Amino acid sequence: MGKIVLFAGVDPLATGESDYPWHPLSVLTVGTALRAAGHMPVIIDCQIEPDWRTKLAEEAKDALYVGVSCMTGPSIGNVLDAIGTVREHAPGVPVVWGGYHASLAYRGILRERWVDVVVLGPGEAAAVALAELAEREGGLTDPASLAAIPNLAYRDGRREISLRGAVADRILETPYGALADMSTVPPLDYTLIPVTAYYTDRVRDLSYLTSWGCPHPCGFCSEPKTSLRRWKGLPPKRVVDEVEALWKTYAPDQISLMDPNFSTNTQRVIGIVEEMERRGLCIQLRANMRAKDIVNLAGHIDLERLRKVGFSAIFVGCESGSDRMLKLMTKNATVQHTIDGCRMLSAARIVQLTSWIHDLPQETDEDSDLTFGLVRDLAQLPYNEQKHHFFTPFPATDMYEALFGASEDDGRSQRDWARSDTYSGSAIWSGRPDFRRRVLGRLLELREQHPGVLVRSLPRLMEV
Ligand code: SF4
Repeated sequence: MGKIVLFAGVDPLATGESDYPWHPLSVLTVGTALRAAGHMPVIIDCQIEPDWRTKLAEEAKDALYVGVSCMTGPSIGNVLDAIGTVREHAPGVPVVWGGYHASLAYRGILRERWVDVVVLGPGEAAAVALAELAEREGGLTDPASLAAIPNLAYRDGRREISLRGAVADRILETPYGALADMSTVPPLDYTLIPVTAYYTDRVRDLSYLTSWGCPHPCGFCSEPKTSLRRWKGLPPKRVVDEVEALWKTYAPDQISLMDPNFSTNTQRVIGIVEEMERRGLCIQLRANMRAKDIVNLAGHIDLERLRKVGFSAIFVGCESGSDRMLKLMTKNATVQHTIDGCRMLSAARIVQLTSWIHDLPQETDEDSDLTFGLVRDLAQLPYNEQKHHFFTPFPATDMYEALFGASEDDGRSQRDWARSDTYSGSAIWSGRPDFRRRVLGRLLELREQHPGVLVRSLPRLMEV
């Protein structure tokens, strides 16, 4: 069984998304599946390995293939850099790109010929099948062999007319496999990474996943396109078994549940709380929940019980204070859900880490006034924190397609996507500079009035 090198390009420290590094769950899930199948995955993470280029150049030389992964935005630059390193030092080794960005922008990636194969959506089974293929055939070049593996996109050596009318490499996709049965998914193998190297002097945070996908249709979000609005979660007992083991093994200060939407199944959340109560556990946990789910959850369980077992902070994607905008972005929730959800968390002494998007397409000054009225009100709640972003369209999302047409097959380069960020603006979508300047002015006022509430750097205007 051979070696597969997995490069993690996501760097939340560089983008301002976080002030501590995140464990690279996207490559850890793939590495776990590869090791369970008998292969030898080697994970290289640019967040914690300053000399990652040297290590990658060396490790790639005898690899079956190199897998790379990132989000849309600046982390693409890390991945392009990694691909260049592999091409220079291990030119015969195939390169495979997976993760959120590649799953949506695969046509552009393949037509720019950055990599040999793209893995679409959940990549564990495809990664194992690619390792077996590379071992058997000495490469990943045979279209007939690739066609038998689900969740792939690749060039088949032929040409076609692209949606823009240009002659281009033909791209084929294989059927999109279902999310795995959770009872068959092995626990994440944290021995593949130096877990404590991600701890900082300020916080020892451990990232962990309890579910995959999301059933909701938010038009700005990549998740509905990569999960096809399907969701699967680990059962409560297994979640608590694994959380307890991680807590004892790695002694973090907190565990961040990085699920796209931890609260999708109310009964599962209640089951996790009850299992922790039964074991007498209090483990500091952070998770994502929709405001509407919080309101629903509070109808079934006292949120104080969540805090008592350790739920200390909940990330709530609020986006806007205008119901008109929430409807336009198909959020399937209302401003009242945001108000009620935040108040309920506040009453239970749980931090609400709320997230907001400004300069949305079609957002008027009146919509923006509603948002600022709401964020000022919420800022007065105990335990309220806020992150503010400028709208950036992500590839192949509903809002991208509403702005630019039916497909990402539009000549966008990966260098353009690398300059596309909700903090610093977008080479794809500049937004309205005057609108953004007004937003920044109001955020500065908010920061003066409530210094502890804005927990990340303010979004910036795009530097042209
Ligand atoms: S924003 Fe959250 S709730 Fe909406 S689709 Fe994305 S992950 Fe799901």
